[in-house]
Amino acid sequence: MKNFLRLCSALLAFAAVIISATAAEPVTIALKAARMFDGKSKALITNAVVIVEGDKIIDAGSNLPIPQGAQVIDLGDATLSPGFMDAHTHLTADFSGNYNQRRLQEVDLNVSEQAIIATTHARATIEAGFTTVRDLGSRFVGSKEFVDVALRNAINHGVVPGPRMLVATYGIGATGGHFDPTAGFRDMLFGREPDYSEGIADGPDAIRKAVRFEIKNGADVIKAAVSGGVLSLTDEVDTPQFTPPEIAALVDETHRLRKKVAVHCHGDQAAKDAIEAGVDSIEHGSFLKPETLQLMKTKGTWLVPTLMATEWILGKLDSYPPALQAKAKAAGAARTEMFRNAVKLGLKIGFGTDAAVYPHGMNAKEFKLMVDLGMPPIEALRAATAANAELFGLSAKVGTLEKGKLADIVAIPGDPTADITATERVSFVMKEGKIVKQSR
Ligand SMILES: [Zn+2]
Repeated sequence: MKNFLRLCSALLAFAAVIISATAAEPVTIALKAARMFDGKSKALITNAVVIVEGDKIIDAGSNLPIPQGAQVIDLGDATLSPGFMDAHTHLTADFSGNYNQRRLQEVDLNVSEQAIIATTHARATIEAGFTTVRDLGSRFVGSKEFVDVALRNAINHGVVPGPRMLVATYGIGATGGHFDPTAGFRDMLFGREPDYSEGIADGPDAIRKAVRFEIKNGADVIKAAVSGGVLSLTDEVDTPQFTPPEIAALVDETHRLRKKVAVHCHGDQAAKDAIEAGVDSIEHGSFLKPETLQLMKTKGTWLVPTLMATEWILGKLDSYPPALQAKAKAAGAARTEMFRNAVKLGLKIGFGTDAAVYPHGMNAKEFKLMVDLGMPPIEALRAATAANAELFGLSAKVGTLEKGKLADIVAIPGDPTADITATERVSFVMKEGKIVKQSR
C-alpha cells in the first residue's frame, strides 16, 4: 500500500511537470501607433502603446515602456481604438438587393444554405473592425430556425471568424406588423398563421410567452417592433403596433429575466408608449418629436438611429416597390431633424446601422453620417465603443482600451478626428488578443 501511494505521488509530480512544461506562456504583444482613442478621453492620446497579454489588455497609455520579450507591432501613422461595436445588425440575412428578388430568394434558399452564407457576413463585419454586435432579429419565413444562436455559438467556439454576438432570435411583433414573416404573402401560403414560436404575439400573455420562449432558446437581448417599418408590406411606417399593456408585459417579462429590450420604432406615439413602459433602446426613431426625445432623456432611454439603413434605401429607391419607396422617403426626411435634436439634447446615442439592409461590412459608413448631422467625431467614436458597451451591458469587458479589458483593438489609418471616413479603412483588427486582420 505504501509503495502504491509512493508510486501515485510520483506519477502526480511527473504529471505536474508535464502540465507546467506544456502550458504555453501567454504571449505578450505591444501595439504601437501614433495615436489612440481610449474610449474615455475627450481627445486622442499621442505615442500610443497598448500591451496585450493572452486575451486581455494589461496596460494602455502614452510612451509606455515595452515589456521584455514582447512582440512589438508598430502600426505607424494610425489611431488605435477599442474594437467597434454595432448595436443593430442582422448577420443571418441580406436585404440589400432588389426587394422582390430577395423575397423570392428568402423562400427559395434552404435555411442551412442561408446559415452558411451568414458566416461570410460575420467575417465581413469583423474585418471591418466590428468586434461585437447586437444581432436584432433573425427569421426565415415558413421555417423555425435559430441561425443567429448557431452563428454566435460557432464564433464563440472559434469555428468561424466573426464578432462577439448578442442575439435576439425572432423579433417580437403583432400579427400583420413589421415582423410578421408571412405579411404580404398570399393568405395561408405557409399553411398557418405564425405564432409566438416565430415571434408573433398578440396580447400581454402571448408576448410573455414569446419572451420566455426566446430566452429559453438562447436570446441574449429581446427585440420587438412597436411601430410599423419601412421594408414590410402590410403596415404603415409610423403606426403603433402594440397597445400600452402589451408593451408593459414585454418590458416587465424581459427585465424579470435580466435581459434588455430593444424596440424597432419609427413612430412618435409608439415611442412614447415604449419609453413610458421602460424599454432600454429605441431603434431608428425617425419621427420622434423633440418632446419625445426629452422624455427619453428623462427616462435614460438609448437612441440607436441606424442612419445607414435609410441612407442605403434612399440611394437605391428603384429596387423597392412603390409603397416602400414612399415609406423610406418619409422616414428619411424626418430622421435628419430628429437626429440633430437628439445630439443637441445630449441623449444617450448608440452606434447601430441595421446591417443587412445594406451589404455587410459597410458598417463604418455610419460614422460619417453621424458626423455630417452634427455629432463631433470623438463622440461618434465613443458611441461605437464605450457607449455601446454600456448599452450592451458589457462595460466591464469591452469598449475601452484599459487594463483588464478584453483585447478587442482596431487600428484606423491616420487621424479619424480629422477625417472620420478613415474608420471605413481599418488596417488592423484584434479580437480577444488574436489578430483577425493586418494589412501590410
Ligand atoms: Zn433592423
